[in-house]
Amino acid sequence: MPIEAALERLLALAEAAPIVDTEQVALADAEGRVLATSLVASLDLPPWPNSAMDGYALRLADWHGEPLPVSQRIFAGHAPGPLEPGSCARIFTGAPLPEGADCVEMQENAVVQADQRVSFSEPLRPWQNVRPQGQETRAGEEVLAAGTRLGPIELGLAASLGQATLAVVRRVKVAVLSTGDELVEPGVPLGPGQIYNSNRRLLCSWLQRLGCDVLDAGILPDDLEKTRARLGQLDSVDLILSTGGVSVGEADYLGIALREEGELALWKLAIKPGKPLTFGHFRGVPVIGLPGNPASTLVTFGLLTRPYLLRRQGVQEVTPLHFAVPAGFDWPKAGNRREYLRGRMAQGQALIYKNQSSGVLRSAAWAEGLVEVLEGSTPARGDSVRFIPLSELLG
Ligand code: AMP
Ligand code: MG
Repeated sequence: MPIEAALERLLALAEAAPIVDTEQVALADAEGRVLATSLVASLDLPPWPNSAMDGYALRLADWHGEPLPVSQRIFAGHAPGPLEPGSCARIFTGAPLPEGADCVEMQENAVVQADQRVSFSEPLRPWQNVRPQGQETRAGEEVLAAGTRLGPIELGLAASLGQATLAVVRRVKVAVLSTGDELVEPGVPLGPGQIYNSNRRLLCSWLQRLGCDVLDAGILPDDLEKTRARLGQLDSVDLILSTGGVSVGEADYLGIALREEGELALWKLAIKPGKPLTFGHFRGVPVIGLPGNPASTLVTFGLLTRPYLLRRQGVQEVTPLHFAVPAGFDWPKAGNRREYLRGRMAQGQALIYKNQSSGVLRSAAWAEGLVEVLEGSTPARGDSVRFIPLSELLG
């Protein structure tokens, strides 16, 4: 299955199971959340015309080349009186423009005479250095659409409109399961045949970054009875996310349990790393089973599961930003699957890590992005390849 087809199916499944609960949260708690209802400006921004410079406010018609007396000083945060005719006002950045003024000249172009009157050395234009009321936003305008993910910029914008809280979509509850008899947690010595569980940490940390409510469901041994029992305990989550045990190997207990008590689709994705992926339901709870090799987990989570989770919260824009960049490597052997090589940029070219094995997570730690090599293609140095920054996928 081409990755586009898999993504399309997953997004359709996500849309069929939207998270509908919403909650009102303080801006300080809204980072990474998804806006549930569009944010409409309740005021003009700026709320009144103000000065963009430290300088002097005047009425242009009063300026004939004769120095003007300074009739008031207006600091940011203080309300001015109307401008006295035939005078100018000392004004500072962000201070309200006094009624009657239609121009601000910056202090660098002002000459203060011995008698404290002020003249201007440069020609003046009407409304120069004035930020008009409503220049940024008019009251009633939609500023952020429902489904927008809230980051520092969106939150700053909401704050600028006086918003203390926002309506956000409830966090997605995700249970993370690692399957495999060989897995042990860091902190204990390795026994024969054992390896440390890397996917659990990788996914739990990543899900937290994505604003999910993570239920760490630990390690599941390769055992059908235990698989059934553990899945049955996870009935209150929005998604069970498991890794390992999805190859058509013998120890595919997840698949067996899903087939027995729900339904299962096993997809052979035409990507590398990350060929096998399962989607199913266990007693109505959606289950995504990712391949166990850590680099495969990374690619299938980043390119498929992340968009699925965002779409369940109503996010429309789930495609990561990507760039066409020149390859800094030769790829002479065409593959029949699309490859996502772990790469980084150097001198404007994409380099790739020396070992692209799906078990090697170190490749991704070295990398800054995924370099896409299309099926059947053999890019050579200088040819264009697509680069998907990891920072796009991780946040
Ligand atoms: P599986 O799909 O269960 O056959 O696993 C494929 C490969 O990924 C095997 O080499 C597993 O040992 C490895 N693997 C599976 N799960 C994990 C995990 N949580 N952490 C590290 N490696 C894993
Ligand atoms: Mg396994």
